Amino acid sequence: MRVVLLGPPGAGKGTQAQRVADALSVSRVSSGDLFREHRERGTELGRLVGTYMDRGALVPDEVTIDMVMDWIDDPDRRRGFVLDGFPRTLAQAKALDGRLGRQEPIDTVLYMDVSVEELTRRLTGRLLCRECQTPYHESFSPPSREGECDHCGGDLYRRTDDMPEAVGRRIEVYKDQTEPLVAYYRARGNLVEIDGQGSMEQVADALIHALRQGGAAPTRQS
Ligand code: AMP
Repeated sequence: MRVVLLGPPGAGKGTQAQRVADALSVSRVSSGDLFREHRERGTELGRLVGTYMDRGALVPDEVTIDMVMDWIDDPDRRRGFVLDGFPRTLAQAKALDGRLGRQEPIDTVLYMDVSVEELTRRLTGRLLCRECQTPYHESFSPPSREGECDHCGGDLYRRTDDMPEAVGRRIEVYKDQTEPLVAYYRARGNLVEIDGQGSMEQVADALIHALRQGGAAPTRQS
C-alpha cells in the first residue's frame, strides 16, 4: 500500500506517519528528516537546503524530487511506503505520479486538517529529541525531565524553523503551494479527510480506521 500524509506543518504528520507505517508494516520517510540528516552530516545538499529551511521556504522542486525518488527506488519500497511531507507542490505530485505509473499508483492520501491557531500553538512550543525525533510540547506534552527525551534520554531541541517568524512563513507557504494538492487528490478520488485537531490517539485511530475501510477507492491514472 502506498500512502501520502498531507497536511499543514504542525498537523502531527511525523507522529502519525510512523503509526500508519507500523500498522501497514511498510517504511516511511519524511522529506524534512532527510534534509535535516543531510545538514547534520554536512553534505553539499545539506548546505544547499539550509537557507531555505531556516526561513521556512520550500526547497526547490528538482532537488526535493530527486532525493525522494532515490528513497522510493530502494527495492524495500516495493511492498509500499508512507510519505510524510512529500509531495508539497503540484510539480512534486505530478513527478510522483509519473514515477509510480499506472501499475503502482498512490492508493490513499490521508489529509489531516488543523486550524491555523492550533498549528501556531503546536509549532511554537514544539521540542524534538535529537536522537529519536520523538516530539514533545513544552505545555501540552512536556518531557518528565526538562531537556531530556523520556524514551532514549537524548537532548531535546527546538527547530530553527519553529521560531515564530518562520512558523508564520511556513503556514503561508503551505496555503499557497501545498493546499492546492487537496483539490488535486480529491479530483482523483483517493483523498480521505481526517480531523487533525483531536488527541494523538484519536487522530491515529481515525487514520487507521480510514485505511482499514480501504481509505478511498484506489484510482488508476488515466
Ligand atoms: P518538515 O520537517 O516536513 O516540516 O520540513 C522542514 C523543511 O524542509 C520545510 O520547511 C522545507 O524547507 C523543507 N522541505 C521538506 N519537505 C519538502 C518538500 N516536499 N518540498 C520542499 N521543501 C521541503
